[in-house]
Amino acid sequence: MTIDHGALRIKYRVERDKRLRPDGNDQYLEPTGRFASMLDDPYTERIEREPRFDDVTVALIGGGFSGLCVGARLKQAGIDDVRIIEAGGDFGGAWYWNRYPGAMCDTAAMIYLPLLEETGHMPSAKYVMAPEIFEHCQRIAKTFDLYSNALFSTEVTELEWDAAAAHWIIRTDRGDAIRAQFVAMGTGPLNRPKLPGIPGIETFAGHSFHTSRWDYAYTGGDWAGAPMTNLADKRVGIIGTGATAVQCIPPLARDAHELYVLQRTPSSVDVRNNHPIDPEWFATLEPGWQKKWLLNFATLQTGGFADEDLVQDGWTDISQRIRDRIVEKVAAGNELTPALADLAFLESDDEKMEEIRARCDAVVEDHETAQDLKAWYRQLCKRPCFHDEYLPAYNQPNCHLIDTDGKGAERIDETGVRAAGLHYELDCLIFASGFEVGTSYDRRSGYDTIGRDGHRLSECWQDGMRSMHGIHAHGFPNLFIIGFAQGANLISNVTSNLADSGTTIAAVVRHALETGADEVEVTAEAERSWMDLLDSSPASFFGNADCTPGYYNNEGQPLNARARFGMAGYPLGPVAYFEYIDNWRNSGDFEGLEFCTR
Ligand code: NDP
Repeated sequence: MTIDHGALRIKYRVERDKRLRPDGNDQYLEPTGRFASMLDDPYTERIEREPRFDDVTVALIGGGFSGLCVGARLKQAGIDDVRIIEAGGDFGGAWYWNRYPGAMCDTAAMIYLPLLEETGHMPSAKYVMAPEIFEHCQRIAKTFDLYSNALFSTEVTELEWDAAAAHWIIRTDRGDAIRAQFVAMGTGPLNRPKLPGIPGIETFAGHSFHTSRWDYAYTGGDWAGAPMTNLADKRVGIIGTGATAVQCIPPLARDAHELYVLQRTPSSVDVRNNHPIDPEWFATLEPGWQKKWLLNFATLQTGGFADEDLVQDGWTDISQRIRDRIVEKVAAGNELTPALADLAFLESDDEKMEEIRARCDAVVEDHETAQDLKAWYRQLCKRPCFHDEYLPAYNQPNCHLIDTDGKGAERIDETGVRAAGLHYELDCLIFASGFEVGTSYDRRSGYDTIGRDGHRLSECWQDGMRSMHGIHAHGFPNLFIIGFAQGANLISNVTSNLADSGTTIAAVVRHALETGADEVEVTAEAERSWMDLLDSSPASFFGNADCTPGYYNNEGQPLNARARFGMAGYPLGPVAYFEYIDNWRNSGDFEGLEFCTR
């Protein structure tokens, strides 16, 4: 394949420039006012209960994979008095809320589903559907006895450090004031739905909902894939063509009378090639296999060398192409420099994206639609998608792609949407418009955290997250943050960050309990030097200003400290971080933390 790399650079820039807008992240709307009910829990009835005023050793805020992984690791470390507080009606987090049809994870289940060996579960397929992931969340909770002490349908409203008593007080919307010696916060990076700031959005008189609160009462059907029979006579519009929309458009195209997909920027949609997992093969895996797979994936996905590619997916494919090109260039006598690595990355990326664009021509019958579905940016500028039914959906006569040439819908009115110069009458409008990223932590978590001397986390992090290891924040004793930023930052497989954080947090809590320490806190100096280390690292590809706008690059706006530090990772990469942190916690010194006994 001959690729005109120069022409691609120009095309990418033209397409990016079309989409740049001065309001950046401010273009989106919070679901408040008329839309506030969009945040209600459609899956579990809220049952009134008496407020709780008791004590626990460790409280975990958030019952998604963050809370579950940390809860499991705490239990494994012999710490039993653990309570998970969760806004939803069950465990699951993202997998509790996101029940849209077709929901699945396009990271391979063998590595995405944490604690597979500990729970004895074999994934049904290479990529599994959301109900199986949700069940796995429940399985972890059952295996590690996390249900008995959990509080569901409970939103934390404030977290305050009580210095005199050396514990946290957790206040909730149920009137609870729970005391916890330690708190870990796992409220997730993509938990707060946002709406597109399209003029007139509040005037739509038909039915509407966000994909993270799918209204099966309206559409019919269910999460397991039953047809949405109520849509058979409906004109449905969907705003957004990100990773969520790519998954729910095929079932919508199957069931709706007419489907109008309002596209601002196409996703890159590569082959998924799903297949069932063979139980006989699975039974041959040796104990410790998941750790080996996780390391293999992280190594290959971040450009390292391994004898074999165990996962073999789109994530490892692009990385291996880059690596092979570097090897080729060095073998041809070139010196290995950052510029050579960048060139290898660019060439591999162009090759990959040309293949992905060619797929549109090969699959989509209508020439114009195929052209409109082509993504003109580098693969990691936006969340790469992998799907085998998305592109064919456009071959159905009732599935209409309304491409807006980067502008988005012009207007919403009582009866529908105006886009690309035409008006579309709709009965139902679905917002696949994503989640808040880059707004303040307290806004996304829904509560503020008041630490030592009344300092608020929202103020301390006004100019961005500050931590050591992405876990400990100075001024906030006995508090842990569960995530990936400022730690391994392996975004291609978020759960491996969480399971590893769990091991770290459990080790710290256990050490505090064993030594009788009342408080553990990162020193200001240790936090500063970790931040300096992150700051010294070369700019990550995420945040690339040449990319088309999206949440990976602060919507194309200059990277302020909040955006930059919110996506920073250990400079030597995830594999080096996992090794570093393993040594750190096993040394028993817990360097940078101060344990204090009164
Ligand atoms: P995204 O933020 O990725 O996508 C939002 C979509 O809404 C984009 O296509 C965006 O267009 C569009 N949009 C926003 N405003 C407008 C407007 N005014 N007019 C028209 N279109 C508009 O959200 P998703 O829910 O799709 O995905 C969020 C994340 O969740 C993913 O990035 C991924 O990390 C995760 N996810 C993971 C999955 C998995 O398989 N593991 C599956 C699903 C989600 P534009 O691109 O132009 O901004």
